[in-house]
Amino acid sequence: MANPRKFFVGGNWKMNGDKASIDGILQCLNDGDLSANTEVVVSPPAIYLGYVKQNAKNNISVAAQNCYKVPKGAFTGEISPAMLKDVGIEWVILGHSERRHVFGETDDLIAQKVAHALSVGIKVIACIGEKLEEREAGHTEEVVFRQTKAIADAITDWTNVVVAYEPVWAIGTGKTATPQQAQDVHDSLRKWMSENISPAVATSTRIIYGGSVNAGNCRELAGQADVDGFLVGGASLKPEFVQIINARR
Ligand code: PEP
Repeated sequence: MANPRKFFVGGNWKMNGDKASIDGILQCLNDGDLSANTEVVVSPPAIYLGYVKQNAKNNISVAAQNCYKVPKGAFTGEISPAMLKDVGIEWVILGHSERRHVFGETDDLIAQKVAHALSVGIKVIACIGEKLEEREAGHTEEVVFRQTKAIADAITDWTNVVVAYEPVWAIGTGKTATPQQAQDVHDSLRKWMSENISPAVATSTRIIYGGSVNAGNCRELAGQADVDGFLVGGASLKPEFVQIINARR
């Protein structure tokens, strides 16, 4: 049976870029020959969301890198999903390892954010992934199942969720998971979802891989049965992002 899940590639620009460099990235994407079979989302720093939305072609969606768990109020420095919606942003990345490990976000907070964003109509790229010491201790599945369960306990509809498996040891390090390592975790996660959420959710939910994906390794990773796309950091700021978008062409 053909893969029922549309290939998905997100570019997480993290806290990088200025108008001039964003113009360059957008020119590359707007002029690029992007596969119509890939859903493409780019995620600039919050202050550039409107600028990117205005200047990206409409085959490219835009994601925030974070948002809070309530619509408004005394939460200095935060933005809400209602505000994202108000300015035409469709997606948000939640639970990125840098939010978890630099800013101390817990499974519970991330689950509340995911539930709130979905309730407002913002689609979510929900990130999970184990640290190096957790992998070395043989705890990879335990960690990613726990992180996924926190989200599963908070939501009922997975239609607008993409799960990004991003082993922390592979993010920004140049150490990509092997295609087999990625496939093994994606396969285990899909089985966990089938048993603990529903077989339909397991079949339809995209599980994308993130961690040092580049033009050189994307095709082999994309060839894995349960790898439904990528969340790309560093390489999403470079022209090779177009090759990654087209990895399954
Ligand atoms: C990321 O930030 O989500 C990421 C995967 O980064 P990189 O591709 O640079 O490892």
